[in-house]
Amino acid sequence: MSNPFKSEGRFVQKIEATPLVEVRLEPGGAGIWCKLEFLNPSGSTKDRIARYMVEKAWRDGRIKEGGTVVEASSGSTSIALAMTCAQMGLKFIAVMPEGVSRERQLTIRAYGGRVVLVAGEEGIHGALRKAEELAGETGALYTRQFENPDNAEAHRVWTGQEILRQIPGGTVDGIVSGVGTGGTIVGLHSAFSEAGCEVTPFAARPVRGSALQELECCSFSPCVPGVVEESVSKLYSEAKLDGLVELDISDDLVFDTARKLIRQGFPVGPSSGLNYAAALEAQNKLGPDARVVTVLPDRMERYFSTELFGPLNGES
Ligand code: PMP
Repeated sequence: MSNPFKSEGRFVQKIEATPLVEVRLEPGGAGIWCKLEFLNPSGSTKDRIARYMVEKAWRDGRIKEGGTVVEASSGSTSIALAMTCAQMGLKFIAVMPEGVSRERQLTIRAYGGRVVLVAGEEGIHGALRKAEELAGETGALYTRQFENPDNAEAHRVWTGQEILRQIPGGTVDGIVSGVGTGGTIVGLHSAFSEAGCEVTPFAARPVRGSALQELECCSFSPCVPGVVEESVSKLYSEAKLDGLVELDISDDLVFDTARKLIRQGFPVGPSSGLNYAAALEAQNKLGPDARVVTVLPDRMERYFSTELFGPLNGES
């Protein structure tokens, strides 16, 4: 059967290279090389992995026309898979904990996807169990973003190669990303290392801000959707990230930085604030001549009802 990505008459959006731009928030401050992944068709970097994982499964014969894809994700991966499946004529089931915003659920349904909710207190682990169960019952392709090597591979062979072509001089000294599945940092680190760069990987970790820090010193903050405590991800915990540096960034700084990026015309969500703030620290550690790259993963419109827009929500 022909690959639906190639078949005539089906609209399959080409994912073009996203821009890589040097972003300087303060005059005279450091410039960070930012990959504008929020410009992907469904609004996030997860378009890359959705497309790569599903197309690979199609080529390997693990899914056919009319088949079903299932994934446990409350965020961008579900939206990206819903869009990809709509384009390929596949069905999609998103398993997510209750409490996920109405906008996200509606976006998935609008693409023809089905949303299955698990009790909020079961969290991501409950969603992972349910996705496994549904895949077993229905024979659906379970993309398993937390352990599927094709997730990191998408960034190694695709996003990473774009960055190497785009960055002046073709070398990268530091790569910075928050970790959800770890696919971004693992894939980009491999791409740059294999290209001969002496690159330091920096994992950005959101922590509770000043008000709570004394009570709960340095504890992980769930303020950044998509970024989790790394224990959930096999892909990340089993990866070899030589010289990995972890950077704790307070949630106050995460939001402040995301708002500054938006004010400069980059319509991004909280994870971009985390990544950019951490990239500034990485630049400090590596020195002013180092080329530090980060990713601006998704768009601000997904966060209108969240703390990111708190200061604006009350304004007339
Ligand atoms: N989703 C969003 C919205 C993010 O901002 C991030 C952080 N870069 C991630 C997911 C994590 O990416 P990955 O799963 O590749 O680690």
